[in-house]
Formats: sequence, structure tokens, C-alpha cells
Amino acid sequence: MKLIVGNQKSYLNSDAVDIFIDNLNTIQKKDNILICPSSIYIERFIQGDIRTGCQNVSKNKNGGYTGELAVEQLKSIGVSFALVGHSEVRKNFHETIEDTNIKILKLIANDIVPILCVGETDEERENNETIDVILRQIQGALEGLSTYDIKKVIIAYEPVWAIGTGNVPSNEDIEEVVATISDFFFDNYQFKAIILYGGSVNPNNIDTLNEIKGIDGYLIGGASSKIDEFIEIINKCQKED
Ligand code: PEP
Repeated sequence: MKLIVGNQKSYLNSDAVDIFIDNLNTIQKKDNILICPSSIYIERFIQGDIRTGCQNVSKNKNGGYTGELAVEQLKSIGVSFALVGHSEVRKNFHETIEDTNIKILKLIANDIVPILCVGETDEERENNETIDVILRQIQGALEGLSTYDIKKVIIAYEPVWAIGTGNVPSNEDIEEVVATISDFFFDNYQFKAIILYGGSVNPNNIDTLNEIKGIDGYLIGGASSKIDEFIEIINKCQKED
């Protein structure tokens, strides 16, 4: 069963969240669906019986950090997954690989599963740096973790140039990157990592993406805020099972 993670960014207003939760709850098999809503709605999703994660976390402990979302706070309301290293956070909030690493260490210490987002920019792709960039992001983010804890981390391969653009790499290109990530974990830590693809996934391309070998699921941005599109994607993935 494919894992389907929705990153709703800051798309939805309050009324739309109620509609989204009601409609999502019409789906019977929801174990493989995880929503990362805006933080102000996290508890509503949890109470709505939906597996819920967050889109970003603070690298600081709970305390005097205005506007931050501390890992300890998220744990206290039952959040069990967190996106980390999303390219929009790396770019807009100047998150470094070291910052991502600190966040992952905090998440693991608090029993929250990190979903580590990695991916190359357009320029890096054109310079044939994709694999180098991705392995650097992964190795840096996992610094200091034991193999036992590394096994808990989910990887989301999200080419930066594919996010929100409607552009998606070819199946062959995705398969090659996913295989390289998979080999990295197998060679260094002897286990099969969970690897998602993200970047402009929508109801029109999901059937094609489902043909890719080695992908365990999807991280879906824009289409995860449009309930009709999101349900169509879920149905098409569940048809595969
Ligand atoms: C994302 O932001 O994680 C993402 C995959 O966005 P989109 O699906 O809109 O490209």
C-alpha cells in the first residue's frame, strides 16, 4: 500500500478544513494517509481521526521562541510525523543542512518520525549534481544518528524544480534517483529505506508515476488541499494494491 502524505502548506482557510476532514473521512482505508496541515489546524485533524504530521519544527526546545513550533509541544498533542528539510523552508527560512540535522535529532528523541525532504534545484540538475546534492543532504541530515534511529527516517525525494510547477521528471529519472538513495541506505545501514516522491503529483500523472519501481508513496503539496483531486489520487493508488 502506498503511503500518501499531504503537505497542505498554508492553502486552506478554516471552513475549507472542515469540508476537507468530512470528505476525507468518507474514505474507508485511511491507514496509509497522513496529512500535514497548517499548524493551527493540527488538533482538528487529530480529533477528526486522521493521521497527522506537521510541516516544519523548531530546532529550539520549548521556551522563549516567539512564533516557533517546538517538537516537545507537537509531541504533547499527539503529532507523530514531521516534514523536515522541505525546500521551501530551506529557501525561505535559510535552513541549513546542520539545522535539518538538529531538527531530526530532536524529532527522534521525541518519538516523532521525520520525513526528510531532499532534492536538487534546476541549476544543480543541469550541472549533473543531482546525486551529489541529494546524498550530501541525506548524510548531513543524519549525522550523529545510530543505525537503529536512521531506520525510522522516511525520505521524500522532491526535485525543487518540480514543486508547484507542474513539471515532473521522467519515470526513468525518478527511478534512478530513488535507486541511488535506496542503495545508499542498503550499503551503509543494511536496510530498505522508505522513499517517497514529491513534486507536482496530481490525478492526471499519478497512473504514470505508479509505474515507477521502488517508490513507497508520495508527498503531495497543492493537490492535497483540493479534496476532490486528493481523493482521486488516493483511489488511483489504492486500485494498485
Ligand atoms: C511539496 O511542497 O512538498 C510538493 C510536493 O508540492 P506540489 O505537489 O505542489 O508540487
